[in-house]
Amino acid sequence: MAELATHTVPAEALERFVADIFAAAGCERVEADRIAFHLMGANLTGHDSHGVIRTPRYVLWLQEGKVLAGQGLSIITQSPTHAVVDGNYGFGQTIGPLAVDLGIDKARKTGMAAIALRRSGHIGRIGDWAERAAAQGLLSIHFVNVAQGELVAPYGGVDRRFSTNPICIGVPTLGDEPMLLLDFATSLVAEGKVLVASNGGKPVPPDALISPDGVRSNNPELLYGAPLVQSGPRDAAQGDGALRAFGEHKGSGLAFMCEILAGVLTGGETSGPIPGGKRGRISNGMFSLYLDPAHFGARDFAERAADYARYVKASRPEIVGAEVLVPGEAEVRTRATRLAHGVPLQADTWAALLALGRELGVSVPH
Ligand code: NAD
Repeated sequence: MAELATHTVPAEALERFVADIFAAAGCERVEADRIAFHLMGANLTGHDSHGVIRTPRYVLWLQEGKVLAGQGLSIITQSPTHAVVDGNYGFGQTIGPLAVDLGIDKARKTGMAAIALRRSGHIGRIGDWAERAAAQGLLSIHFVNVAQGELVAPYGGVDRRFSTNPICIGVPTLGDEPMLLLDFATSLVAEGKVLVASNGGKPVPPDALISPDGVRSNNPELLYGAPLVQSGPRDAAQGDGALRAFGEHKGSGLAFMCEILAGVLTGGETSGPIPGGKRGRISNGMFSLYLDPAHFGARDFAERAADYARYVKASRPEIVGAEVLVPGEAEVRTRATRLAHGVPLQADTWAALLALGRELGVSVPH
């Protein structure tokens, strides 16, 4: 199948358009701007599956009361070094920064902190939250799950038991050195990539999905049901197959532990079983650790981390002329390119945004 045509939109205009959509949908201006800023952050770093493509779905959730505007954090319990907090189904772009800032505040005072967040609206690209902590000189580690979002089969199984459960580790470095940032889903591909493939875009790898009878496949119908006749919104509840975890038993084990840390330890929900078999609303759980390197006596931590990154990059490349990248480097490069040249959007993503803008009376950027 051919790659779909793309539209390239300047980042600033696109962010403003998306913010206007959220404001027209009922968010206060400051929250609308914040949601758009974080969605755009995902596009700018190359993670389009968690960028503005989510706008129609978020607006629908807002209209259905599945995500709530203007929410704050409720503190369930806390000490100087930890907190358990409830996001009250508020927008993840509002709840995420509140939870992260609480962790930053505690870790700066005590050297380390753990924050267990439950019932947050979708918190998007997790790298955003590690970047926020790194900007304050803190290392952070995040384990995430999606309550009622099971999509991924465990290693050796065919039934959905995990969500795409991302893991993220962010490491602050020196002033002009880019931070080190590991940030990925534990499924072999993000659901957004199957969505793109289902609309005629780039196919996912041949073993990204598994059928109920145990056959590995790249057929999006396993996720969205058959036959797939049109492009547009897809419902992952319609398929009877599952995504596969990356890295066989190792990735599956990481996904399992995300459920335990982000779904159970937080007092939230695991990704399944889904009550009554019918998805209500999805929410993110996130268990995060914030560490101040100075607290560990590692005063030259940033220099040594940067030195080590340079050493890794100096490995001879496997392919002549290619380059070894360290975690986070791909994102930094994509951000620079997209800020300079605009954000490419698939035709159906752009069309859906325009339609939503028209429906809400928002003027379209030129
Ligand atoms: P991915 O497969 O693109 O992997 C990204 C990671 O790999 C980054 O750390 C990046 O720096 C690194 N990387 C990329 N190219 C590299 C190279 N050539 N050499 C070395 N390292 C390289 O990410 P993904 O699994 O598609 O996840 C996409 C995004 O989706 C993430 O930001 C994640 O947080 C987000 N996500 C969120 C949720 C949620 O519920 N909120 C769920 C799943 C995923």
